[in-house]
Amino acid sequence: MINNLVEQHVAAAYDAMRPHFPDFCGCEICREDALVYALNRIPARYVATNTGSVVTEVNLEKEQSRAAIEVAMMDGLRKITMAPRCGKRPQPSMPA
Ligand SMILES: [Zn+2]
Repeated sequence: MINNLVEQHVAAAYDAMRPHFPDFCGCEICREDALVYALNRIPARYVATNTGSVVTEVNLEKEQSRAAIEVAMMDGLRKITMAPRCGKRPQPSMPA
């Protein structure tokens, strides 16, 4: 079984940052778009795991990688908030 360690970090970054973007839609489409956006900007780190074993300890080499993931996730959340693919309209600047 092949796992990309970065995926877990990106998912964790999403969960941590999502509350800071109240205008972010957060539906399944937007969630995946945010994850994909960040994943496409961070080099993958693949590990092989034996059947049944779970990667509990995820090590990225440097604290820097974690920061890069958070920055990429923030960018993604911002971009998708502006133009969500699911069609949710951005917050109107003026109340109707
Ligand atoms: Zn959405």
